[in-house]
Amino acid sequence: MHYLDNAATTAVAPEVADVACSVLREHFANPSSLYALGAHSEEVIENAREAVAQSLGVRAGEVIFTSCGTDGDNMAVLGAAKARRAWADHIVTTGYEHPAVQNAVASLEQDGWRVTVVKPDETGCVSMQALVDAVGPKTALVAAMHVNNEVGSVLDVAALAEEVKRRNSRTFVHVDGVQAWGKLSLRLRDSSIDSYAVSGHKVHAPKGVGALYVRSGANLAPVWRGGHQENGLRPGTQNTAFIAALGKAAQMLDVASMNQLCTALSAQLWQGLSQIEGVVRNSPQSGHPAIANFSVPGIRSETMLHFLEARDVYVSSGSACSKGEASHTLSAMGLARARIDSAVRVSFSGTSTPQDVDALVAGVAEGVKSLARARR
Ligand code: PLP
Repeated sequence: MHYLDNAATTAVAPEVADVACSVLREHFANPSSLYALGAHSEEVIENAREAVAQSLGVRAGEVIFTSCGTDGDNMAVLGAAKARRAWADHIVTTGYEHPAVQNAVASLEQDGWRVTVVKPDETGCVSMQALVDAVGPKTALVAAMHVNNEVGSVLDVAALAEEVKRRNSRTFVHVDGVQAWGKLSLRLRDSSIDSYAVSGHKVHAPKGVGALYVRSGANLAPVWRGGHQENGLRPGTQNTAFIAALGKAAQMLDVASMNQLCTALSAQLWQGLSQIEGVVRNSPQSGHPAIANFSVPGIRSETMLHFLEARDVYVSSGSACSKGEASHTLSAMGLARARIDSAVRVSFSGTSTPQDVDALVAGVAEGVKSLARARR
């Protein structure tokens, strides 16, 4: 099997699954219970918190466990706006956010907030300066992603936060780091970023667990209501087993190796694709090498995807969340319809191999020949 859809989700690492299973068996007690069994569960959670904090370059007390990336994004976007309702009426975001941010912002717009959307250019890059320039005295929030999930564009979010705060120190800066975690080295404590969302299933932990970094002292109102758990920001009895799994996955992150591998695989991929007539690159040259997006205008994404699937090669037609709808990232980049309708996304993980890339390139070459012939 050649699984090259790691931006959609990754396989759970065996070591991570082992941790989850042993915690499920051995630490069933409620981590909030006062007796020793509860304290043991709490200890499991606090160890995981430390591991996640280390991977993000922050203090353990600044990590909130969530149920997924979408959960963290919603908590940050809605909570930051809520906390600034008294004086602010404006939000700044990019035109290629994941629906987790895009739709949270859209719900605020429906409630009367003004929204400035900075679109990516045709190469897939968003201008940091344009985001900063949009910030005014009534801007509550700037929400932007670190690595784009469809084309891999990278935004210098630390510089963005710095500049935003220079313009308005009360503006909250939220970063969707779901596709960046494990791919870029992070020392968020040295930045002015207020919150940063990550998700377990993109880094070989299970689906249904994630984390949100909230900078100590950042003003974030709770969105969820309930008990005291997770500093009152994410109440509800914690999922001890999956949190432990997330901690294990965080410990196993190796950004340097991941980058070395992805750089080599990406070079191999683009070199192979460049030999195939009709292939057009949609990813920016400066994008993260873990994500590659290309089109073969004239051959619909789904057709190519199923052609590749028959060869045991798994890629996607855009983000997994768009489920066949036209990619909003490629649309925001202003690409022609034929390019959008034929887009294919390839995404690597630490277990991807040159053989996977060979199989993909051979499959695309074959697909271009036989699918183009079938069209004639
Ligand atoms: N943000 C980005 C950039 C993503 O790629 C995803 C998932 O694809 C999410 C947020 C949502 O994460 P989750 O699936 O954990 O809710």
